[in-house]
Amino acid sequence: MDQHFLVDTSAVALIADTVPVSGRNVLEIGPGGGILTDALLSRGALVRTVELDRTLLPNLERRFAAELASGQLEIICGDAAKVRLPEFEIVVANLPYSISSKITFRLLETGFESAVLMYQLEFGRRMIASPKDTEYGRLSVMTQTFAGVEMVIELPPASFSPPPEVWSIVVKITPHEPPVPIADRTVHAILVRELFSHRRKTIRNGLRGMRSIYGDAAVTNLITTLPAEMLDKRPEMLSIADFIDLSNCLSALIA
Ligand code: SAM
Repeated sequence: MDQHFLVDTSAVALIADTVPVSGRNVLEIGPGGGILTDALLSRGALVRTVELDRTLLPNLERRFAAELASGQLEIICGDAAKVRLPEFEIVVANLPYSISSKITFRLLETGFESAVLMYQLEFGRRMIASPKDTEYGRLSVMTQTFAGVEMVIELPPASFSPPPEVWSIVVKITPHEPPVPIADRTVHAILVRELFSHRRKTIRNGLRGMRSIYGDAAVTNLITTLPAEMLDKRPEMLSIADFIDLSNCLSALIA
């Protein structure tokens, strides 16, 4: 269950102070021993936590008896990837790394104002990578199409007990509308997935690989419509807006 508990108190304070939480509905996923829960409550947040490990609940209930009684805290026992989520505006969580991707996209689909989330360093760097960075890929595009992502802090294994084998990163996520309206989000998601599944191929060859999905005629038409300078690029060179433009052209051809 990825139970590496944060023990670095200055990191806890930094995470809790990244966005103003006083009087706001804050969802915390995986409270563990409650170190972050405590910091959020002391800043006046109305905290709704989801914890999978039932054995951690008695300790949390003892530690936060007053806040539970007053309604400032609610503890939900369940899997944050599946359970019905309570109302929230802000998410603050030291996420279980095994379900980082699933939870992040669930949260983005649900909608929120801002999130301060901890990830495995490599995963977080992929989220914030820009075109031409070696880490730029499907995760960067699918996240940055729908949100701004900023680094807050990188944390070494020693910040946790027991220490994990990997470094961690805290990022702030602020959802926004895509820079260009997306005609069909499914087509966009498939195009990004397919082009990055052959990241060494040019866009021309990557698109050819999509004939089995969208048919020969639509893909050939798309390739004929696009400028050569776009077709000769590799997916890691395309901007967020380029992927939307490409998918909008494809959507128009298959409509
Ligand atoms: N927030 C605490 C801290 O910073 O010390 C604990 C963080 S620990 C990395 C991850 C926490 O998520 C653990 O308490 C674990 O039991 C919980 N967890 C793991 N999988 C979960 C899931 N699917 N849904 C909700 N909580 C989960």
